[in-house]
Amino acid sequence: MQKSNNNFIITIDGPSGAGKSTVSKKIAARLNLSYIDTGAMYRCVAWAAQKAGLDVTSESALPALLQNIKIRFLAAAEKNLVFCNEEEVTDLIRSPEIDRLASAVSSLSCVRDALLPLQRAAAQNNPAIIDGRDAGTVIFPDAELKIYLDADLNTRAKRRLEDQKQNSDVDLKSVTAAIASRDQADSSRAQAPLLKAEDAILIDSTNHDIESVCQRIIDLYESLKK
Ligand code: C5P
Repeated sequence: MQKSNNNFIITIDGPSGAGKSTVSKKIAARLNLSYIDTGAMYRCVAWAAQKAGLDVTSESALPALLQNIKIRFLAAAEKNLVFCNEEEVTDLIRSPEIDRLASAVSSLSCVRDALLPLQRAAAQNNPAIIDGRDAGTVIFPDAELKIYLDADLNTRAKRRLEDQKQNSDVDLKSVTAAIASRDQADSSRAQAPLLKAEDAILIDSTNHDIESVCQRIIDLYESLKK
């Protein structure tokens, strides 16, 4: 079992649009933790597969790509940059098309098996906050603090629409349908489905702003550090 040893690990799991990445980035900055965005890793695989013209639903199409893929994060003042095979893909991996392809690749065992050691290695010697779907159940089952962040579907869709407002092709109806479909795929897949770890603390952000959710998690962190 993966031990986080004397490293303090916070995991934040939950469905799309619950606010995981916004909350994680703010807490990482306030507590001086590394921020590990595991969703971005699946997005990089989807982006690289699409670029190479590979079938993202096929287990046999991806092993060579997975063997050579290089994913790197760079914490910058303005935003956290993501590099895939040395190309900066921070914004390229946030399109609705990559949303869909990332969800498809994430159900493949070969992809999950390839990314798991990279996700663990990223937090090996440094306190970190890990944002994902299986961070508290599979990546760090012994994490010191596990959060499951949720919100109702309508609230999550509105937040996601706000994130994607520069994209004129999207509206609330299509965003709601896309999120519901990703939730369904993420929750029902055989390997590492989206699941609240038994020892995770559930926070529902439907009626709470980002600041109060961050403060609640920081309070939990402070009480555990004592
Ligand atoms: O969190 P984000 O929306 O960037 O994640 C993109 C996709 O990657 C999700 O829809 C999910 O299918 C997948 N994912 C996963 N396990 C994780 C993180 C993300 O399966 N730990």
